[in-house]
Amino acid sequence: MIDTLVQSIFINGKWQNAETDKTTTVYNPATLEPVAEVADGGEDETNKAIAAASTAFSTWSELTGRKRSKILYKAHQLMLEETDRLAKLLTSEQGKPLKEAKGEIKGAANFLLWYAEEASRSYGEWIPSSIKSKRMLVMPQPVGVVGAITPWNFPASMITRKIAPALAAGCTVVLKPAPETPLSAIEIVKILERAGMPNGVVNLVTGDAEAIGNAMLTNKDVRLITFTGSTKVGKYLMRESAEHVKKLSLELGGHAPIIVFDDADLEKAANLSLASKFRNNGQTCICANRLYVHESVKDKFTKILTEKVKQLKIGSGLDEGTDLGPLINEQASIKVQAHLDDAVEKGAQIICGGTKWDGELNGYFYQPTVLSGITDDMLVMNEETFGPIIPIQPFSDEAAVINKANDTDYGLAAYIFTEKTNRAISVSEKLDYGIVGVNDVFPAVAEAPFGGVKQSGIGKEGGHYGMEEFLERKFVSMGI
Ligand code: ADP
Repeated sequence: MIDTLVQSIFINGKWQNAETDKTTTVYNPATLEPVAEVADGGEDETNKAIAAASTAFSTWSELTGRKRSKILYKAHQLMLEETDRLAKLLTSEQGKPLKEAKGEIKGAANFLLWYAEEASRSYGEWIPSSIKSKRMLVMPQPVGVVGAITPWNFPASMITRKIAPALAAGCTVVLKPAPETPLSAIEIVKILERAGMPNGVVNLVTGDAEAIGNAMLTNKDVRLITFTGSTKVGKYLMRESAEHVKKLSLELGGHAPIIVFDDADLEKAANLSLASKFRNNGQTCICANRLYVHESVKDKFTKILTEKVKQLKIGSGLDEGTDLGPLINEQASIKVQAHLDDAVEKGAQIICGGTKWDGELNGYFYQPTVLSGITDDMLVMNEETFGPIIPIQPFSDEAAVINKANDTDYGLAAYIFTEKTNRAISVSEKLDYGIVGVNDVFPAVAEAPFGGVKQSGIGKEGGHYGMEEFLERKFVSMGI
């Protein structure tokens, strides 16, 4: 299925190896077996890619939105046609169950479709002037060359969520995927190539994160950096972007609370809490990290949830019926264990799970775990675990639980379960988060804005808001 040595750097329409011929290995996280060797590029390749993107910008940005739209639409179709192959490849480098990988490919294709549609709807404004002899015009114009840096947890959809609006707006792109998951990125760029993307409009550099990032930061021609990843790296990019005052769009960490009120539909709340927590094995920035359940329903809810958790099937994502794949790497496994040890040391009880999974596969598997006896000082209640642990804490007072939910530097997604509309609205208003799910845990869709507040990020991806990030608003003031 996979070539062992992949030419993974794409500059000005040409696939190539690293100039040094250095490569890095991509591993299947379920088996720890190598799946491919990709180019280990760095600053030189990135600067060449930026130069190609700068040259291509003048022609790409001058095309009509309709023309850009056609290419994006074609890419959307090609991606859907290849869903099965792309999903398998994604699972082999990332580990998530095949059914989730297929969902991701369809979601990724949706971004191409949405922005194919948006490309021709980039409106400006005519401002009524207070002076009779003036006319005032606001023109949307593409920002310029975009550096896109993407993570491993959604190797396909995080790419199209960034580059589809950038391309629709008329920007050109240099993409740097996560070193763990470059294969999906390569396939997406190949699809864009087959869809007729002109040379230089999309460029791809795999390799050394710091070196590639450094070239994007220091090269004046990159006008915007769009990044999804850790808050730590996001802050670094923000600091270093100051030198050239680059625009930034940042999707950073989360620490999502789920609040289950006493009037919730408990079956629904349990099903969706499970879906939120164990999707991608807990490795999503919007997945539930901590659950607050009203004390009057806590025992019942915990029982329903635990029964469902015990049914989850662990294994290779490529095997039919798998619900939970491996964690991405050893570091992730160490973090999950540290969070669990800390909780147990501070008095948490393990209701189910609580250990690594010792199946026959070599990857970093962990059993889905439910904890009670949770106190506010535990790591699980203060940091993103990024793994399959659900800590459940009871609450009695609405205002107090909202305070707890808000008592964090993060502000990406929060969820509430209630059947009362008034409560749904008033609590949504009080939650200090960019996204609130009410009886819903899947808010990441092509047509709606996704993004955090506080240290969870800057800017929005998705919907017409997502395209706005890649546009400047030029004001033309005319005397007549
Ligand atoms: P995680 O810990 O989840 O892997 P990171 O923030 O480290 O999150 O990674 C997200 C993306 O940022 C990846 O593509 C990674 O290679 C990239 N990255 C990491 N460090 C840097 C850096 N110094 N400059 C640019 N990109 C970086």
